Amino acid sequence: MQLLNIKDIDLYRKKVFIRCDFNVPMDEFGNITDDRRIRSAVATINYCLDQDCAVILASHMGRPKGEIDKKYSLEPVQLRLQQLLKRHVDLAKDVVGEDAMQKAYDLPNHEVLLLENLRFEKGETKNDEKLSKKLAEMAEVYINDAFGVSHRAHASVEGITHFFDNDHKAAGFLLQKEIKFFGTLIRRPTRPFAAIVGGSKVSGKLEALINLLPRVDKVLIGGGMAFTFLKQLGYDVGNSLVEDDLLEEAQHIMDEARRLGVKFYLPVDVVAAQTFAADSVSKVTSAQEIPKGWMGLDIGPATVRLYRSVLADVQTVLWNGPMGVYEMDRFARGSNKIAHLVADSYATTVVGGGDTADLVQRVGVDEELTFISTGGGASLELLEGKVLPGVKPLIVEEEEE
Ligand code: AMP
Repeated sequence: MQLLNIKDIDLYRKKVFIRCDFNVPMDEFGNITDDRRIRSAVATINYCLDQDCAVILASHMGRPKGEIDKKYSLEPVQLRLQQLLKRHVDLAKDVVGEDAMQKAYDLPNHEVLLLENLRFEKGETKNDEKLSKKLAEMAEVYINDAFGVSHRAHASVEGITHFFDNDHKAAGFLLQKEIKFFGTLIRRPTRPFAAIVGGSKVSGKLEALINLLPRVDKVLIGGGMAFTFLKQLGYDVGNSLVEDDLLEEAQHIMDEARRLGVKFYLPVDVVAAQTFAADSVSKVTSAQEIPKGWMGLDIGPATVRLYRSVLADVQTVLWNGPMGVYEMDRFARGSNKIAHLVADSYATTVVGGGDTADLVQRVGVDEELTFISTGGGASLELLEGKVLPGVKPLIVEEEEE
């Protein structure tokens, strides 16, 4: 898949709008715990500055409810960007309000303006045309470098592309790198190919799982999503995270895996806790013996041993989603162990998603992995064979012979 390339665009002294993905994980004090997504955008930003562009940056962060909410301000991102770019970055007070529009209009060449959190505008996630138009009015060129959000048809990702012709829009360096890497992985994965899937967003990932099944040889489940499967198998999972309306879907996935000959592994033991708290009473129990009212917050040691032997012969590993509540030390062991297992493997190892990237960095094995993607949902959808809505408008049409 060939994308419109930033290098083919005449950028000299132009006003450029770069959609970035600065949706970085933060701790409870508002400190950025993993700035990979910000660092990954620096190449494109500096390239534009080298062409004497006026650079407007835009991103979302978290899930504010379509209105200005200080808690979700991009101020911490502004500060980190200033350190990384070694220059001043102005932060607008809004997205397409008076302040942002005026600042964008006045922005001189070689200066950087960061808009406030795009999701302060209700229209962003609705792909609202009016919002896309306003954002597009700010600049002469549109660059998408936000791989992590390219699977969403949002105003700053999809809608905005309709206001620029092919000479004035392109994929940035990060987006290109990600698309190229996953393209190769889809076309020729070295087998056996294992997907390790965890995290809490069950609903989104079950759909991805069903589409992944025909492409992989093994699936290893961990994290909160495991309990929907375990419950469907008839186990009492106590107060663990379960999406009851997806039980049937979980059964369907297990049936499909059997039909396709894909080996499907679930945790055999868990670290169960009385409450969802870092200092909760906890113990290791078999997946079938979670005490009433307790909840599974991590995979247990037997599961780690099982997954170690399952991963021993694989040649490609894709990992998306932590194995437990890794933010709390007590429930981080399963994820830490799997991180080491994956890192020590000689396979091609790919990690996707903000949390999983954060996790491997905390464990200190990030350098030992083949590829860390800035997009979790986006990388899963690519592997499912979908064309991402934010990427589609940037694909170069192949000329017919
Ligand atoms: P996701 O965004 O879907 O990748 O989910 C990541 C989140 O899942 C992390 O914040 C983890 O704390 C959380 N998580 C992982 N395992 C569990 C679990 N067993 N119960 C509740 N939350 C979990």
